[in-house]
Amino acid sequence: MEQQLYTIPKIELHCHLDGSVSIALLKQLALEQGITLNEQNLQVDQNCENLEEYLRCFDEIQKVLQTADSLQRSVIDVASQVVKDNVKYIEIRFAPLFHMEKGLSINETIQAVIAGAKLAMTQYNIKINILVCAMRQHSNAINIDLFDHVLQADNEHIAGIDFAGPEAAFPPEAIQEAAQYGVEKGLNLTLHAGECGCIYNVVESIKLGAKRIGHGVAINNDQQVLEEVKAQQVLLEICPRSNLQTQAISDVSELNLPYLLSNGVPFLINTDNRTVTQTTLIAEYDLLLKAQQLTMEDIEAINKNAVNHTFLSTEEREELRLIMK
Ligand SMILES: [Zn+2]
Repeated sequence: MEQQLYTIPKIELHCHLDGSVSIALLKQLALEQGITLNEQNLQVDQNCENLEEYLRCFDEIQKVLQTADSLQRSVIDVASQVVKDNVKYIEIRFAPLFHMEKGLSINETIQAVIAGAKLAMTQYNIKINILVCAMRQHSNAINIDLFDHVLQADNEHIAGIDFAGPEAAFPPEAIQEAAQYGVEKGLNLTLHAGECGCIYNVVESIKLGAKRIGHGVAINNDQQVLEEVKAQQVLLEICPRSNLQTQAISDVSELNLPYLLSNGVPFLINTDNRTVTQTTLIAEYDLLLKAQQLTMEDIEAINKNAVNHTFLSTEEREELRLIMK
């Protein structure tokens, strides 16, 4: 089954850089930088109780990702994992403000990650773009300044922006000003929403102009919200294992994938954080196949359809469509 899963060309749209750096590279970076990492804090354990606890892993990982060199190597490291899932196009996201403890500027973090993406594309048969994450817990002024840096970077490899971080404490109203600023300036917006079970957040995120929703778990039982998602053709970036760990769901059947499929609600399966969650894209699809939530044909179809929801230009989408055949 895994071999058959491998052969399907895939797209991944929700993958965090820091949460996906391999343990091997994290250890190597710690060694080189003279930093002691608490290995137990790099991945969630089975007792993880919620999103807040899940997010704590990132504090440990980020200790070794404070230099341009480490950021650049991280992107290549993630690309080396992703190609083993036969991913042809990935949008990797990262939050610049979490990589400035040793003096990097916002622009330097962005340039380091882009340099990593360019190098990775010369080494592997994959196309990579970057999404810049604002954090919900930061003020609108801080996030607007971040988006200004994104706009000034004017780089073809930045595909869009996202808001990550604690959702329950910082609902859509809290980030409205910065999100609208980004959208008005023409940046593609995807938003983490519905991960805490709040349907209202998904609706509000769409109103803010989000073209995709990270997780969106909460909406699956609400007919009206599903209609809205479908009408707007907003794609749900679903991350099953991560949702199980943060206890957004207790079983993958709660994702209601067969229902989403039969109702034409666009979605794609993603890893979220390959290392923190201890997963691969093949493992995610394998889980859903075994739970009879998707068939091989479904997996092929949702990946092909995801081309339409990438933050790529029309021409680039056409090129990708040829590769996805
Ligand atoms: Zn995420």
